[in-house]
Amino acid sequence: MSTTYLIKNASVLGGDPQDLLLRDGIIADAGALGPVAGTVVIDAGGLIALPGLVDLHTHLREPGREDAETVDTGTRAAALGGFTAVHAMANTDPVADTAGVVEQVWRLGREAGHCDVFPVGAVTVGLAGERLAELGAMADSAARVRVFSDDGKCVSDANLMRRALEYVKAFDGVVAQHAQEPRLTEGAQMNEGELSGILGLTGWPAVAEEAVIARDILLAAHTKSRLHVCHVSTAGSVELIRWAKSKGYPVTAEVTPHHLILTEDLVKSYDPIYKVNPPLRTAADVEALRAGLADGTIDAVATDHAPHPQEDKDCEWAAAAMGMLGLETALSVVQQTMVDSGLMSWAGVADRMSVRPAAIGQVEDRHGRPLAIGEPANLVLVDPAAKRTVDRTGLASLSQNTPYQGMELPGAVVATFLRGTATVLDGKLA
Ligand SMILES: [Zn+2]
Repeated sequence: MSTTYLIKNASVLGGDPQDLLLRDGIIADAGALGPVAGTVVIDAGGLIALPGLVDLHTHLREPGREDAETVDTGTRAAALGGFTAVHAMANTDPVADTAGVVEQVWRLGREAGHCDVFPVGAVTVGLAGERLAELGAMADSAARVRVFSDDGKCVSDANLMRRALEYVKAFDGVVAQHAQEPRLTEGAQMNEGELSGILGLTGWPAVAEEAVIARDILLAAHTKSRLHVCHVSTAGSVELIRWAKSKGYPVTAEVTPHHLILTEDLVKSYDPIYKVNPPLRTAADVEALRAGLADGTIDAVATDHAPHPQEDKDCEWAAAAMGMLGLETALSVVQQTMVDSGLMSWAGVADRMSVRPAAIGQVEDRHGRPLAIGEPANLVLVDPAAKRTVDRTGLASLSQNTPYQGMELPGAVVATFLRGTATVLDGKLA
């Protein structure tokens, strides 16, 4: 028999305190509740209750790079970060481009049990950008794939992108594009601008992202099919997506936590911990991304959690792998940049980190639900008054490439519940 929890005085979405009774996987009762026999009582005074977070963009690395992360360790990190669902990116080895591989990842997620794992299918075979993968077979598989992405690479062939968009319409799928024009970013090491010139590093220009987004918006409009833009990083990209939405085109977008807080100035250190794709941009871009997230132009925060073993980061800048961890710090970064700055409410955080990503990933029947009677008991309790100094040796991820090492960040995940079962309690794995 599963444990029954009575959560007392939680501030639901930052509103008035109420009690929540979690029983048999659902929120069985809510409001002002008296004592209930046989329950574990959690005093949530001062804590915010949000629907369990949903990540649209997680690299779990398994199969193939189990030295960097496994489905088990990555989903432990996710639960500690307040997530109850993650979408696992397809750039594994072998690539998740068949029903067999996506089912393997989905099963590993179920066995680990820390959060729901929804595999993302590759758009093209082997991420090679030459022919479409078995999109229909992945959609029909036990993993029920709805999000397709060659992330790490861009589907740069316009005709293939058009055909992918047309194909996924059959099951209301979405193509999630890593927008990067490959010819414009050959050898790119950081954001292109004055600083890249000074540092002598090859630049990754904003136009390489924006040109692909503009093209894909028009393809989505033409095919009337759903486009999702991964990790938007420039002010110009936000403007393009704002325009697409004003026209009513079926386009959604995400921003990473690190693009909301870090700027290219950190690259002056030549510390590869700050090497990421798309690169860290300017303060003006950060400001535009925050504004776009606040006004809803950008639908979701997605981590782009990208674990790398130490040896792939502890080397000279040019040779280092691109990417940084994100799952265990995402909510704190969003609190600091969006909530504590006054740009967004906690209800806004629930919308951008749970409700909308669940809808984009087509899992809104189970995740991103209101915290109301009869709904699945997927939720997170956050202490917004807590402060913590990030210590990479204390993370659940197998890798340690966090850019926040030694930084003090606000907020802490106190508890996470997946269908009424605690995956995290008192800030530790349950
Ligand atoms: Zn990417």
